[in-house]
Amino acid sequence: MPAATFTVEAPPPADGTTRARLGRLELRSGVVETPQFMPVGTNATVKALDPDDIKATGATIILANTYHLYLRPGHERVERLGGLHRFMDWDRPILTDSGGFQVVSLGDLRVVDEDGVTFRSHIDGSTHRFTPEHAIAVQEALGSDVAVAFDQPVVPSSPRAVVADATARTHRWAERSLAAHRREDQALFGIVQGGLDPELRAESTRFIASLPFDGICIGGLAGDETPEQRDEALDLAIPLLNADPRPRYLMGLGSPADLLEAVHRGVDLFDSVLPARVARNGQLWVPGGRLNIRNKRFLDDPAPIQDGCPCLACRRFSRAYIAHLFRADELLAYRLATCHNLTFTLDFMVRIRAAIRAGTLPASMPELRLRAGRSSDGAGAVKSA
Ligand SMILES: [Zn+2]
Repeated sequence: MPAATFTVEAPPPADGTTRARLGRLELRSGVVETPQFMPVGTNATVKALDPDDIKATGATIILANTYHLYLRPGHERVERLGGLHRFMDWDRPILTDSGGFQVVSLGDLRVVDEDGVTFRSHIDGSTHRFTPEHAIAVQEALGSDVAVAFDQPVVPSSPRAVVADATARTHRWAERSLAAHRREDQALFGIVQGGLDPELRAESTRFIASLPFDGICIGGLAGDETPEQRDEALDLAIPLLNADPRPRYLMGLGSPADLLEAVHRGVDLFDSVLPARVARNGQLWVPGGRLNIRNKRFLDDPAPIQDGCPCLACRRFSRAYIAHLFRADELLAYRLATCHNLTFTLDFMVRIRAAIRAGTLPASMPELRLRAGRSSDGAGAVKSA
């Protein structure tokens, strides 16, 4: 059995009103229906949740960070303890990122050369080195269902020469990542870079798509670009992959409004820390907007965060109780808020998939945009390339 089998169950309509598609990604540890959102478990845990909580949000696949797990507790230790699934007791699919983003963006010291990146640990300042071969070896030891090729991301607004240099190196590292990859039960995705430059983005899309990866990551977005710039980059890149049978994964995007627009443009997979991070700050997502649960007015509110929400917080507790927990800095606040925002996000993906399945996504966009908290202003039509 191949490490990844992707089936498009409902292709986009021929009239070009949307590039959204319904898919089914079969991996070693289970099946992922797409379009899909992956909660992030940076340190082999989705912060504040246990594996049962994560499943109850509707998550079928999570992301774990290679850079963090390499530094602590160490990939070799995880391997000795039976691999990442066993270690964190998560029996559904896991995707590991390549570590490229963290190595390039988080390290104090980072020196990129043709062979790899030397960086300093954010934990203790010790010096480390990642090469494409090492990033693959770490992910093989962790034993994720999907590994990702090592790349050199740059912020979208970087000067063209910087983007061109990093993109060319990402291509050479993609080939080295493929050559180094041994595990036949682990899928390997490649990463497209190219920033916001149309020529570089198109060239990178064609190059990465020419290699025998199991999926295509769209990198270098969800950074400092505007939503319009992101839409333009997707309107350029996705049509180049039209006939391509592999899943497309836009790394780092997480607000419901952004997810919707990217699905509409043909993206199948997403990950982000955003729903969980804002939850821990007391920002709770509800249809049409958000509640800041730290606001005084909730202290006397007996209603659930969201009527009808099946999450742990909404089934059992009031806004008043959760508002109290946040004010008292109680740990349960983080768990309940995270359960809610992830449930909201994953339920939103269920609604998007239902609309695609019914062939009604273009007609449902205004309603879905409202639910996501972005009012429909007529913008956001898919442009053909
Ligand atoms: Zn809820």
